[in-house]
Amino acid sequence: MICRVPFVDPKSHYRRLKAEIDSAILDCLSRGDLIDREDLRAFEEHFAAFVGTRHAVGVNSGYHALQFSLQAASIGAGDEVITVAHTFVATVSAIVNAGARPVLIDVSDDFNLDPRALEEAITRRTRAIIPVSLNGRVCDMQPILQIAARHNLVVIEDAAQALGAEYLGQRAGSFGLAGCFSFYPFKILGGIGDGGVVTTNDAGVAQAIRRMRYNGEDRSTGEFHFHGETSLLDNVNAAVLDVKLKHVEEWIGHRRKIAGLYREKLAGIPQLRLPHFDESQQKDVFQNYVIRAQDRDALQRHLQSCGVETLVHWRKPLWRHSALGLTSTGLHKTEALCCEVLSLPMSAETTEQHVAIVADSIQSFYSSSPVPLARAAAG
Ligand SMILES: *Cc1c(COP(=O)(O)O)cnc(C)c1O
Repeated sequence: MICRVPFVDPKSHYRRLKAEIDSAILDCLSRGDLIDREDLRAFEEHFAAFVGTRHAVGVNSGYHALQFSLQAASIGAGDEVITVAHTFVATVSAIVNAGARPVLIDVSDDFNLDPRALEEAITRRTRAIIPVSLNGRVCDMQPILQIAARHNLVVIEDAAQALGAEYLGQRAGSFGLAGCFSFYPFKILGGIGDGGVVTTNDAGVAQAIRRMRYNGEDRSTGEFHFHGETSLLDNVNAAVLDVKLKHVEEWIGHRRKIAGLYREKLAGIPQLRLPHFDESQQKDVFQNYVIRAQDRDALQRHLQSCGVETLVHWRKPLWRHSALGLTSTGLHKTEALCCEVLSLPMSAETTEQHVAIVADSIQSFYSSSPVPLARAAAG
């Protein structure tokens, strides 16, 4: 079966923006501006304004945004950092590679950190919390910030999936000491390769990360302040990202529209739970459209046979990857999600027709293979 609905479509994404992207790249190349030039600075300024922070510092991945933020907060050996187990591995690897110990807690029904699980995870070694705003929905920040303030903990947001998402009118990446974003090509704002950025209102954090990404050097004085890394956001990538940033509002609008169409077409299927949550405080941007489905693996195979591409984020909890050396107990929601979650096609290129094909294919799966009533009721 040919693929009728791709999960994402980088080729047609590029074709739509070809003129703008080509000219940004050619401009940089013909000026010879490849590393740490004006295009990077301009993009950082525009990005900070978009998120609502004073500074943005471009680095070469979302992973490095997290690791550098932890290091800029002097978090390392002997420290504990609380985050969720239901996240991309980079969140946890950044903590481990910074020398600290990750303490994993459970999520709520909206896939985000459960603030009720936070306080009992705090010990005298706890230094920071990394709330991960997953799938384009900001975490319930108010209780998280209150608990952090009460225990004198640093908050570093993993906002890699939440560009433009809001909580009480404030955007992801502007709540804590630092906000970490990824420009992995399939994020809402995707680069022409890997990239990331740290947003912050703290001039000291911004300066420290500018040095970390450039081998510890202060470019204005030539002084090496510590052993850093080579981890800049490429100037050419920044120029392309700056072009694409102008379209982000429009793409978010499109994603919200596609999410609404999925809801309309799938709402009547009792074997599914759809990712529409209370939006009285949040405004979700649907980086991913993740349903919880009964008989998920069989459904995914059926969709594949219908030419519909889907992904599973994630199939087993991080602590079951034994080589990672993580421990965890009693994270029942995280365990359950791994058996149920299915990410449906969602991008700036997803069309109304795609949604119709996906919905028909899901419908045909559940009507041809009825599940036992007891299980359907439990869904
Ligand atoms: C994409 C992502 C990151 C960082 O990814 P990079 O590939 O390193 O840019 C971190 N956390 C989450 C939740 C992500 O989705």
